[in-house]
Amino acid sequence: MSQPRLLVTSALPYANGPIHVGHLVEYIQTDIWVRFQKLLGRRCVYLCADDTHGTAIMIRARQEQRSEEDVIARMQANHEQDFAAFDVAFDHYGSTNSPVNRRLCGEIWSALRQKGLIVEREVTQLFDPVAGTFLADRFVKGTCPKCQAPNQYGDSCDRCGATYSPTDLVNPVSTLSGATPEMRAASHLFVQLEQLHSFLADWTRNSGSLQEEVSNYLQGHFLQEPLRDWDVSRPAPYFGFEIPDSPGNYWYVWFDAPIGYMASTSEWCEKHDEKFDDWWRSPDVEIHHFIGKDITYFHTLFWPGMLHAAGYNLPRQVHIHGFLTVGGEKMSKSKGTFIKAETYRKHLDPAYLRYYYASKLGGRLDDLDLNLDEFIAKVNADLVGKVVNLASRTARFVQATGLSPTYPDDGGLFAEGATKGAEIAAAYAACEYARATRLVMELADRANPYVEANAPWALNKDPSQAERLRDVCTVALNLFRQLAIYLAPVLPRLAEQAGKLLNRPIERWSDAETPLVGTPVAPFQHMLQRVERKDVDLMIEDSKDSTAVPSASAPAPVPTDTAAPAPWQDSDEPLKAEALAPQITIDEFAKVDLRIARVIAAEDVAEAKKLLKLTVSLGGDVQRTVFAGIKAAYRPEQLVGRLVVIAANLAPRQMKFGTSEGMIVAVGPGEKDVFLLGVDAGGRPGQRVH
Ligand SMILES: [Zn+2]
Repeated sequence: MSQPRLLVTSALPYANGPIHVGHLVEYIQTDIWVRFQKLLGRRCVYLCADDTHGTAIMIRARQEQRSEEDVIARMQANHEQDFAAFDVAFDHYGSTNSPVNRRLCGEIWSALRQKGLIVEREVTQLFDPVAGTFLADRFVKGTCPKCQAPNQYGDSCDRCGATYSPTDLVNPVSTLSGATPEMRAASHLFVQLEQLHSFLADWTRNSGSLQEEVSNYLQGHFLQEPLRDWDVSRPAPYFGFEIPDSPGNYWYVWFDAPIGYMASTSEWCEKHDEKFDDWWRSPDVEIHHFIGKDITYFHTLFWPGMLHAAGYNLPRQVHIHGFLTVGGEKMSKSKGTFIKAETYRKHLDPAYLRYYYASKLGGRLDDLDLNLDEFIAKVNADLVGKVVNLASRTARFVQATGLSPTYPDDGGLFAEGATKGAEIAAAYAACEYARATRLVMELADRANPYVEANAPWALNKDPSQAERLRDVCTVALNLFRQLAIYLAPVLPRLAEQAGKLLNRPIERWSDAETPLVGTPVAPFQHMLQRVERKDVDLMIEDSKDSTAVPSASAPAPVPTDTAAPAPWQDSDEPLKAEALAPQITIDEFAKVDLRIARVIAAEDVAEAKKLLKLTVSLGGDVQRTVFAGIKAAYRPEQLVGRLVVIAANLAPRQMKFGTSEGMIVAVGPGEKDVFLLGVDAGGRPGQRVH
């Protein structure tokens, strides 16, 4: 009888920021599980994607004056580099902003409609009249209605902990434009989850798909009362997929994100000649989601509800983990404990972190602490001192002879290790990696005294002991290899090195049952170096510098830190393309009156190929209408609210579609490559450029 195939996912990282050590808990946890299953010979596919939609991406793109597509493409490239460096090996990595995802969203949406699960209702929400967008809670700041603390976010107060609606804030201000938000009503679409109540109550309690503490939490917190309708649409402007049967409305990012698991599967199927329904509608596939506890609600109620309604496989298991703390506290930029994956790998070997996390992870939702002293001690004592040591102290003595032709008497050490394999495997399967690594270290603790007692370095000095030396090294290297097999899910590079050293790649978990004999031994190469305290300190120092730099044109509600800047090396091509103009005097320059202006309205001129019609404000009620040839580079909604520079004293120019009262300055060769000039924070409409 064949075992079920496994489809495994990690939560999709959001395209608004880089991967940090907190995220890595989950990717490393999942990757270990997948590698373990593959080592057992199970058919297992590991899928993930970047989560790309939503207001945060739209706002970021506006602030950085790039397209959303550019923002998400660059971030995805960063994410993929980090995952590769940490040996997180997806079978496919997609994006939620893909045609397949749009199509699947449409299919699931139709199914929800057909089942009568969608209702439409008006929602009144704060709206930023300058930025022209509705405001999510965290884009509104104001004075706490309870304790009067200033500068609090729209959903809760940092000072007194009160939670409230953004409409309760005293003197609310939009963080996007600084404008006072107003109340506006818009129509939203909801999924009536309550119609699925009995299905969800049964599934969460009886399917065995959830950890017991999660099942109890859902029963006690949400399922005791009617489930609230889930708001799954957002009115334009929004970066996402427009809902086909509700123009002007977009699916909320949380609707399309989990469907990204399916879209990624579909893309993988396409590449490997597999059928999508064989993976999402087949009874012999188990779906395993790995997520953090912060998104429990989405994955244990909404998502199974959607899958059930649309007739897809339900998750066989939702594996939920806790949060990461560093030194017992929340990660902090000022303390240097907000450690980005990229910063970590500049200073330390990713294998250390994989091992450390494995040594701390259990199958429950407990938080995991990265204690840097323990981190150094554990890696050095366990990996360098107990595992690699077995090979580094013996391999060179058998490099000339290879391993003994028959396996010597080792007092039962290898056989004992082989017997332990089942228990270690069970621990991995149950996500009890702390237990798995502890069992492996117990075996290492038995192997090391054997080497000490038989002192191959002493035997090597006595030619009459050559055969014994070879036997002792054969035992030590086989015990090393057995440990490397058991650690292969955690430390794939070490397993690979062990395979090269003994000229036999590690391919199966069952390789740990049989000792190698008679194989040649390659020259010993360094495997894992000791962790040095100074490298850890440097990483922390480096992390202190990487705090977000606020974007130029507006206060930034979202982090803008991306990859480290490339070294300055600019091309001479632009200057060659357009030579410098003849010299002028300061008086001549002063004739051009350049002013800062704010775009307050922008619309497409449908009949013109290149033009957008912009209304800009110079402050007070001085406004100008300007036609700008930037249609290929900007969409109207990207411009509303932002500051631009205009040549304000140009004679008005009669154009086919109206009069243009000024010119917005920009650079670039044209078409899509047009870049408006921005203004650093503090610059205000009406101010002159001097
Ligand atoms: Zn308060």
